[in-house]
Amino acid sequence: MNVQMPIHTRRSHRTLVAGGAGFIGSHICDTLLQRGDTVICLDNLHTGAMRNVRPLLNHPHFRFIEHDVREPLQLDGPIDRIYNFACPASPPHYQQDPVGTMKTCVIGTLNLLELARQKSARILQASTSEVYGDPEVHPQPESYTGHVNTIGPRACYDEGKRAAETLMFDYRRMHDLEIKVARIFNTYGPRMHENDGRVVSNFIVQALRGAPITVYGSGSQTRSFCFVDDLVRGLEMLMESPAGVTGPVNLGNPHEMSIEAIAREVLNCTNSVSPLEFKPLPVDDPKRRKPLITTAEKLLGWRPRIPLRKGLEATVAYFALEVAAHDPAATKKQPSPSRRSGRTRLTLANSQQAR
Ligand code: NAD
Ligand code: UDP
Repeated sequence: MNVQMPIHTRRSHRTLVAGGAGFIGSHICDTLLQRGDTVICLDNLHTGAMRNVRPLLNHPHFRFIEHDVREPLQLDGPIDRIYNFACPASPPHYQQDPVGTMKTCVIGTLNLLELARQKSARILQASTSEVYGDPEVHPQPESYTGHVNTIGPRACYDEGKRAAETLMFDYRRMHDLEIKVARIFNTYGPRMHENDGRVVSNFIVQALRGAPITVYGSGSQTRSFCFVDDLVRGLEMLMESPAGVTGPVNLGNPHEMSIEAIAREVLNCTNSVSPLEFKPLPVDDPKRRKPLITTAEKLLGWRPRIPLRKGLEATVAYFALEVAAHDPAATKKQPSPSRRSGRTRLTLANSQQAR
């Protein structure tokens, strides 16, 4: 049965977006404001940036609070919805301070759950495909309990996110809280940080600069890349789904490809002649990853719509401006603007706002 909510007709909410100055969080802030919500964006600016939300600061229904979710939080007034994106998401960033990452996942989620309980708010947790670890089941359904190395360098994030899911479901069992858990697979798009360290942003920035493309390992490991506009639509649909829909729900694009193939696609999209440079594979790097999205299709009526090429073009257009701002000489190596014109409408508006 398709129980998709008509999200364009829902009543407006007072929504807290934790991690709202980051890549995904800032796109959610935009979307919620466009839909008429009042948005409180909370962020400690660890990996996020004020410029992602600066154009929103004068919006009458937007408020920014600099706060670390590891600290308890008091907020005046009602809160209807809480999105929890607060956590570094790129492997180099979350491994920089592993204990801090674990605390953000566990204590941060606990603090937001307490707030949700006080306010009787519905809460959505941005969980991750990393809960499946280096999966032995392929593609990954939500019923797969995963294969995580508990003592490896990725565990601070993987196990932290797993514990956060546990807390969400315990709060539901103990306090009857309305919870939603989204397991997000690799997502890319405008507003990823230039030095984020994740593969799509790394490859695009390297290609635009004419620098070697750093492929880790043989490049035969796979990922499935979802464009941010598709993800944001799925997250909002999950948040507004009936109370009985708790998840976990996989949200991702099932189009699986090797890392070498994504490198070649980026070279093609940027017209770059950067060489591939093979580097050691990080410890515990998952070999294959692809979401099974039948739950999202059935319960939300959601599936991604934006093909990789179109999403990459929008992302390249964003990073071309970033690279030009920091390194004007690199723009001489750029493709002609016509090769970078295929942005989606929402992203075009957002990236113009973000300047
Ligand atoms: P991001 O790093 O751009 O955003 C994370 C945001 O959280 C940043 O603005 C950061 O400053 C903030 N933050 C970090 N620690 C905080 C703390 N202790 N207190 C308050 N704010 C804090 O990353 P993103 O890609 O936008 O990821 C957002 C969420 O989605 C993360 O929770 C991540 O685990 C999850 N996720 C993302 C992906 C993806 O592919 N982008 C995949 C799976 C899960
Ligand atoms: N990767 C790569 N070069 C880079 C960054 C990442 O080859 O410059 C690889 C990485 O080893 C992994 C894949 O790309 O196999 C996806 O990495 P990312 O950090 O984006 O996400 P995750 O590993 O968390 O899925």
